[in-house]
Amino acid sequence: MKNIVLFGPPGAGKGTQSAHIVEKFDLFHLSTGDIFRANIKEGTKLGMLAKEYMDCGELVPDEVTIQMLESEASRHLGQGYIFDGFPRTPAQARALDDFFQAKGEQIDAMIALQVPEPELRERLAGRAATSGRPDDANPAVIQNRIDVYNEETAPVAEHYRKQNKFRDINGVGSVEEVFGRIADVLQALGEKA
Ligand code: ADP
Repeated sequence: MKNIVLFGPPGAGKGTQSAHIVEKFDLFHLSTGDIFRANIKEGTKLGMLAKEYMDCGELVPDEVTIQMLESEASRHLGQGYIFDGFPRTPAQARALDDFFQAKGEQIDAMIALQVPEPELRERLAGRAATSGRPDDANPAVIQNRIDVYNEETAPVAEHYRKQNKFRDINGVGSVEEVFGRIADVLQALGEKA
């Protein structure tokens, strides 16, 4: 059983690759973005709060996000998680370490998808036609999400690098090609266990 963080900027393919990973490796997919969007749809208090931030491409505050994540992550412990969109700040990464430590678990690896910025902008603008996501429809919001990633989220890589858990993957290519690279890393991790 492995707990994996799938990392990368908006549009890097975290959601798409997560679906393939779940199919082949039987991990539980936990996407903070999906959970927030489900809450928005249901009109919950959390959803209303998250929407304010998501619509302009800002991060939902750590305190709210960490509390939500811990309550969700308590439900499938033991299966192995693929975290998608979390942790997005160093404080979230520390909270996840503490949470797992208290449960006798740990993050085994962070897999980081690398995609150049011009391609991210193109992918997100293209996705707007089908995703129905307001944050994909506006180029200024897309740019803000990329800027927020560079300023607030990119430092999370260092957290896992220090623990020798950071794995870089080229995120450019077909979905199958990129998945093949991820599968190689996951297989190697499994063999190490
Ligand atoms: P993408 O990575 O394509 O931008 P996500 O679905 O992961 O899409 O996230 C969408 C939005 O949800 C983010 O821009 C942010 O506002 C919010 N969000 C998701 N995960 C987190 C998190 N861990 N911390 C704070 N905000 C988050």
